[in-house]
Amino acid sequence: MNTTKRLIWVFGDYRNYFQNRVTLQLLAKANELAPRINAEVCAVLFGHHIDEFITEYIAHGAQKVYAVEHQSLKNYSVEKYAVLMEHIAKKFRPEIILVGATSFGKEFAPRVAKRLGTGLTADCIGLEITAEGHLLQIAPSFGGNLIAEIITPDHRPQMATVRPGAFQEIPHDNLRHGEVIHIPIMKNLPKDRVRLIDYKRQATREQKIEDAAVVVCGGRGMGSKKKFRKLFDLAELMGGEVGGTRPVVYAGWLDPDALVGQAGKHIKPKILLSFGISGAIQHTASTNEADFIIAVNKNPNATMMKMADVAIVADANQFCNTLIKGLRKRIQV
Ligand SMILES: Cc1cc2nc3c(=O)[nH]c(=O)nc-3n(C[C@H](O)[C@H](O)[C@H](O)COP(=O)(O)OP(=O)(O)OC[C@H]3O[C@@H](n4cnc5c(N)ncnc54)[C@H](O)[C@@H]3O)c2cc1C
Repeated sequence: MNTTKRLIWVFGDYRNYFQNRVTLQLLAKANELAPRINAEVCAVLFGHHIDEFITEYIAHGAQKVYAVEHQSLKNYSVEKYAVLMEHIAKKFRPEIILVGATSFGKEFAPRVAKRLGTGLTADCIGLEITAEGHLLQIAPSFGGNLIAEIITPDHRPQMATVRPGAFQEIPHDNLRHGEVIHIPIMKNLPKDRVRLIDYKRQATREQKIEDAAVVVCGGRGMGSKKKFRKLFDLAELMGGEVGGTRPVVYAGWLDPDALVGQAGKHIKPKILLSFGISGAIQHTASTNEADFIIAVNKNPNATMMKMADVAIVADANQFCNTLIKGLRKRIQV
């Protein structure tokens, strides 16, 4: 009987570690899936001075870590990293490779899949194991009008990129143990075609919208950029973050990185306040995990109103102002 365990690999994207938690979320999900296929959960990471990340990944559930450490891997390089991943995947033959759908992951994973001659489901919002032991990759499809369930029955590894925020990380535990496999860097890695001169970290909000317990979301029904800005006052009073729909991003009322929906962020707040949003599937596919939804819309038949726990038929802007006034009063008392 073959007792060798299968391998679930999670690519370690440790850039901006304290904000970018997707690798930890994938390790958590891999831990949930692994017993179903008798697999080990492994992190794979490349870089220079990466010891602290190896320790972190073990503390967050990696049973094994494959690490390639070299000065030339200091900066994330899509071309080099893809060749390296191909090389070690061919050697260790993982069953599954999961990559965070970060800007880097979205460039990196398809290149790896092509090199390994396997399929890839991009931007998954869920992962399960089928009765036959295949990875069920759940992702919005056909412009978000359908949620597709995809399997890769004939090729290995099964590969998916997964949206940040789709899963919950498991808490850090220093007492966890893991095996570390140091792999020497291969010769003849491609040279970087892009030379990194400098980088500046983008100013981020206090917390990520994917992790926020309260999200105030606004849509076209807010009426104007000026009125939309009121949602930021409300979010501040509630200790939350502001998100919005595609039309408000296109109109320049909101930064693109706060777009909620198929083309943006997946959120799971305890409370979602939705102002002037119709509830198109491309938006609601990423809000349907909110614990409690309060929707404000002048149209009682809007889909968002039907999805809400509390639906308030009102002018979104006026209601927002009333709420701000009420909260300010309460805070002063
Ligand atoms: C491929 C593709 C990807 C997409 N990805 C996304 C995505 O990631 N995220 C996303 O959000 N959308 C996305 N969309 C767009 C999506 O289909 C919808 O068009 C969009 O979500 C609608 O935004 P909205 O609700 O703000 O606007 P609308 O649909 O125009 O709705 C406005 C709502 O405001 C209400 N309203 C109007 N005035 C008031 C008022 N004074 N007070 C209260 N309520 C009022 C109206 O009754 C209406 O319900 C995508 C579309 C495609 C084709």
